[in-house]
Amino acid sequence: MFDTIEAFYRPGSVREALRLLQDGKNRARVVAGGTDLVVEADRSIRFLIDITHAGLSYIRRKGKACVIGATTTMAALENSPAIRALAGGILARAASACGSVQIRNMATLGGNLANGSPAADTATPLLALDAEVVLADARGRRKIPLTAFYSGARKTKAGKTLIVEVAIPALPRGGRWSFQKLGRTASDISLVNAAAGLQLDSQGRVKWVRIALGAVAPTPIRALRAEELLQGRQLDDELLARAAATAASEASPIDDVRASATYRRDMIRELTRDALKKALLHCKRQEREDAGK
Ligand SMILES: Cc1cc2nc3c(=O)[nH]c(=O)nc-3n(C[C@H](O)[C@H](O)[C@H](O)COP(=O)(O)OP(=O)(O)OC[C@H]3O[C@@H](n4cnc5c(N)ncnc54)[C@H](O)[C@@H]3O)c2cc1C
Repeated sequence: MFDTIEAFYRPGSVREALRLLQDGKNRARVVAGGTDLVVEADRSIRFLIDITHAGLSYIRRKGKACVIGATTTMAALENSPAIRALAGGILARAASACGSVQIRNMATLGGNLANGSPAADTATPLLALDAEVVLADARGRRKIPLTAFYSGARKTKAGKTLIVEVAIPALPRGGRWSFQKLGRTASDISLVNAAAGLQLDSQGRVKWVRIALGAVAPTPIRALRAEELLQGRQLDDELLARAAATAASEASPIDDVRASATYRRDMIRELTRDALKKALLHCKRQEREDAGK
């Protein structure tokens, strides 16, 4: 694609990046790690705006929320003590499952979401964490829930805006999470991925639950009917199996070079059950530790 590029910019701030984006109109494109962009064959691009020096590589606490700058790399997420400690480390684990070491050193969180792939590995745990995306354009900044960010296959609400950061709000007390990925190889993109989050009440019933799935529909999704089924109930093997089957029925997987839709649907069931089971085990372990104090 690079033979069509007339200018490459490296702005030192978000403001400058936004001005360049506006000046370049439809012919300018943001680039972060470039790991998705370089494999695209979009010959309409004339100007590249490299945002990796615009001050968006950070992981910070903001009150009870955690905010992550858009150009934070997968390697930085994978190795960050704060992200490894957050929600049982599901986001760190998803980042560590993105491609090879070389890819993870370049690939960014913002790029993973902006690309709009239903198989984006970080989108699934972020959905389970109720994350929000902060977008910026010349008019200012706005925050939208990740659930509203995707508008269709490879389509997002980012449009001509810049993803500035991702915010993860305060997590439910005592909540426990799990992320599961199935790929053909350790460095391949997901055939299916699943994240689950659980909070139990003092009677061991489900007080809060999140089930998110990737690579199973045009966009990453929440399995809302499966979540509803579990709400207020005590989890046992039969209910977990029913929830996993419900999650599979909410998905609309496709046949492609990596796997058939039938295989994917079977794997959604397995991964959902595994993710819920692991989150439940973590809850029970915590309960035992609290009881022993
Ligand atoms: C060999 C290989 C293996 C891979 N394996 C995986 C995998 O296992 N899991 C996975 O999820 N992905 C995988 N990927 C895809 C890719 O690495 C990720 O999606 C990565 O996070 C993209 O980030 P980037 O910074 O490289 O994006 P770029 O390529 O720089 O940008 C991607 C798109 O997002 C736009 N963009 C980038 N940043 C912003 C921003 N802040 N605001 C607005 N728009 C923006 C760009 O304009 C472009 O359209 C793989 C890619 C390769 C080449």
